[in-house]
Amino acid sequence: MKAICWHGVGDVRVDYVPDPEILDPKDIIIQVTASGICGSDLHLYDGLMPTMEAGDIIGHEPMGIVVETGRDVKKFRKGDRVVVPFVIACGCCFFCQKQLYSACDTTNPGADLAKVAMGQAPAGLFGYSGMLGRYPGGQAEYLRVPHADVGPIKIDSGLPDEKVVFLSDIYPTGYMAAENAGIEPGDTVAIWGCGPVGQFAIQSAWMFGAGRVIAIDRVPERLEMARVHGRAEVLNFEEEEIHDRLIEMTGGRGPDRCIDAVGAEAHGTGSLDAVVDRAKQAVGLSMDRPHVLRQAIMACRKAGTLSIPGVYIGLLDKIPFGALVNKGLTVRTGQTHVQKYLSPLLEKVESGEIDPSFVITHRIPLEGAPDAYEKFRKKEDGCIKVVIKP
Ligand code: NAD
Ligand code: ZN
Repeated sequence: MKAICWHGVGDVRVDYVPDPEILDPKDIIIQVTASGICGSDLHLYDGLMPTMEAGDIIGHEPMGIVVETGRDVKKFRKGDRVVVPFVIACGCCFFCQKQLYSACDTTNPGADLAKVAMGQAPAGLFGYSGMLGRYPGGQAEYLRVPHADVGPIKIDSGLPDEKVVFLSDIYPTGYMAAENAGIEPGDTVAIWGCGPVGQFAIQSAWMFGAGRVIAIDRVPERLEMARVHGRAEVLNFEEEEIHDRLIEMTGGRGPDRCIDAVGAEAHGTGSLDAVVDRAKQAVGLSMDRPHVLRQAIMACRKAGTLSIPGVYIGLLDKIPFGALVNKGLTVRTGQTHVQKYLSPLLEKVESGEIDPSFVITHRIPLEGAPDAYEKFRKKEDGCIKVVIKP
């Protein structure tokens, strides 16, 4: 089959690779019909994620048609249409029992170095390197989906792929970010990053009762989408001093809830050994870019909440921890527990409360991926969200 494979920094290619096979009785194989390119894929593209290997198949936002089922699979049959969460979870461990699927204890075994670097390994993720279990990803013609009875959700309603494919990741991620923010009715919510995750965080902030949403970015089309589609007030961080503006806009108090939907930008974490070394020594990385967290901590009102869906890898330093403690902020973060949100969010799509396809700007065949990654990386050509249709 054809698949998008990682070959190095800024180098993804369409390769011919062996078709996936059932390896466990709980697996299914799907023929992929739609697959997103995510901001998290850009961390791989930028070489921020150690333990990627040349030839790794990437992609973690897939949906498709079931073409094969393992003998223990109960929920699915050949021909079913499914959306697949990017998190692989067993459904039985201590964490899965608590619906903390991205903390699943069994799907990322043996990642000793990852455990040192991350404190403890999280769940396995599709297409996200050795540290996350080295599961082949979904930007491919076919995908093996482990623990099929726990992850995928069946789409019976005939809704087109574009309306449901983002249940795999960015829609639940934006939604969990808003939920983690602990929004109370009428709250002012500031959201850094108007990429796809930020856009869904904006939509979700309203669902949780926000009174005001302020969105921050610098890319004009993204700010425009946040303003028009997200009904947010927008700030361009290249034109305005964000901290001062947020304080001013909230009468000196600061936003009640702050969401960092940016995460790590291209500043390099080096090899896994280097990450582990740094984790062991608890020595911070010096970074110029990730000022989002600092801004959010400094701007957030006292006793407010900081929700961080943005992905960070390795260590960050120069975080104003004193301000965080003395203001009594609550911080919540994590990879999304996608499985927990699939049914309730699918209902919102079915009822017409939200049509997640609004973020799509580019639709491409697999062959278009190298060019699309570059456009998405550089935020060129109005690129906000790419959907690959193998
Ligand atoms: P994206 O790259 O499309 O969007 C990031 C946006 O942040 C861009 O529009 C960029 O211009 C903006 N930005 C950069 N610096 C900024 C700053 N200083 N202030 C304000 N905005 C700034 O990516 P995305 O797909 O929207 O993903 C966003 C983040 O969410 C990534 O870190 C990704 O890894 C993460 N993510 C997390 C989960 C999870 O489970 N927690 C799931 C999916 C994605
Ligand atoms: Zn993603």
